[in-house]
Amino acid sequence: MATSHSYDYDLIVLGAGSGGVRAARISATHGAKVCVVEADRPGGTCVIRGCVPKKLLVYGASFAAEKEDAAGFGWQVGDSYHDFASLIASKDAEIARLEKIYRNLLAQAGASLIEGYGRLKSAHEVEVAGKVISAERILIATGGTPQMIDVPGMNEFAITSDEALDLKTLPETVVIYGSGYIALEFAGIFNGFGAETHLVYRGELPLRGFDEDVRTHIATALEERGIILHSGHTIKSITKTDNVCSVTLDNGEIIECTQIMAATGRVPNVSHLGLEHVGVAQQKNGAIIVDEHSASSVESIYAVGDVTDRINLTPVAIAEGHAFADSMFGQNIRTISHDNVASAVFSQPPIASVGLSEQAAAQKYGTLDIYESQFRAMKNTLSGRAEKTYMKLVVEAGTQIVRGVHMMGPDSAEIMQGMAIAVKMGAKKADFDAVIGIHPTAAEEFVTMRTKRNS
Ligand code: NDP
Repeated sequence: MATSHSYDYDLIVLGAGSGGVRAARISATHGAKVCVVEADRPGGTCVIRGCVPKKLLVYGASFAAEKEDAAGFGWQVGDSYHDFASLIASKDAEIARLEKIYRNLLAQAGASLIEGYGRLKSAHEVEVAGKVISAERILIATGGTPQMIDVPGMNEFAITSDEALDLKTLPETVVIYGSGYIALEFAGIFNGFGAETHLVYRGELPLRGFDEDVRTHIATALEERGIILHSGHTIKSITKTDNVCSVTLDNGEIIECTQIMAATGRVPNVSHLGLEHVGVAQQKNGAIIVDEHSASSVESIYAVGDVTDRINLTPVAIAEGHAFADSMFGQNIRTISHDNVASAVFSQPPIASVGLSEQAAAQKYGTLDIYESQFRAMKNTLSGRAEKTYMKLVVEAGTQIVRGVHMMGPDSAEIMQGMAIAVKMGAKKADFDAVIGIHPTAAEEFVTMRTKRNS
């Protein structure tokens, strides 16, 4: 199809990750002439070095606890061992399969793919693979990249989640720095496979920003699972001799390990994009500033996903990319809501939540009714596992609207998706109460909590 003016394309998308591919595919389906520029493998963070490979390793590691639990149900599990290299090979094959699917999705939609690093030359031009291509609109969907803290030895010796997904052998001892999503997920992976796992973080509890009760419960659960927590500490330096890293903490303690991993946050992937060159306004951390239509400060340039540092989750990037495509080329101008987006931390046990923590809800809505439940899951009665599941409802006292739902325990991510529908619809506590539970499940607790905390 011919483009307007004399541009090569209607749309150039920088980045073939979740947000970019969705935007490209839908725009092409609406009839736009689209080109996607990608420097790495199509699929982006989520498919190639994030959600998908991570979840496969989480599944792999979770069999360790299952094996322990099986004994209580009469299983006599004999000698067994885990072949780490074989898991990584299977994971790689699956990622290659998905990459192919991403390539096919673009091709089937009629979008072309140029492999190379794209750099803005002007508000309508991108330089890639030695030539300059032009478009009426440019969408930046280049995602994020791990951030390394400036500590002696960190850059030299630490790996990030990018490399952690590709280790060919399991390290004997791992020190993970940070206590966010990535730190907790990889702590569960390494610990599950049998590595001695240390988590070093500067806060008193992991997962800053999450509900305080959930934070307290996950700290206990991680320790019960064998992860060694070093809360309230920072790393001062790392040295390495004969494949052993010595990690010195701010209190002088030295932890020796065979692998150090930095999980200290991610930053928008903007270096060498030429944003300054064309005047695209950025936040201090480099994130592209956009409005609710994902429009940047330059009229023809838009951005979606982690590069905008709104909510850094794959489904959010996809929703932003889809809304962009519908608005620009589908004659359906729309925005998406960033409120009440559910998320999960695939730690072991996992955590999931939607809406506000008790602390954030108290600030926003004042008086709250809190309902909570803490129990040993039925499976643990026979398995002997001491771990407790924790569930919580945060209800605005005046309106009785449920403002937050939180859970730590098996299947919490699966359960929370349904809860998110209720919270998004503005459900009140009475709506939860009117639902009859599925018995016996953990999920039924969310509709059977009747006693307010402290009452
Ligand atoms: P997070 O922001 O979740 O955690 C960063 C961690 O690094 C925190 O513990 C933080 O400590 C620590 N940190 C940051 N700066 C410093 C510093 N200068 N010194 C010491 N510690 C520091 O980032 P992640 O990298 O874990 O994940 C990035 C984002 O990716 C997430 O926020 C999430 O949006 C997304 N993600 C989602 C997943 C999912 O949906 N399951 C999985 C993985 C990632 P402090 O809290 O004290 O600041």
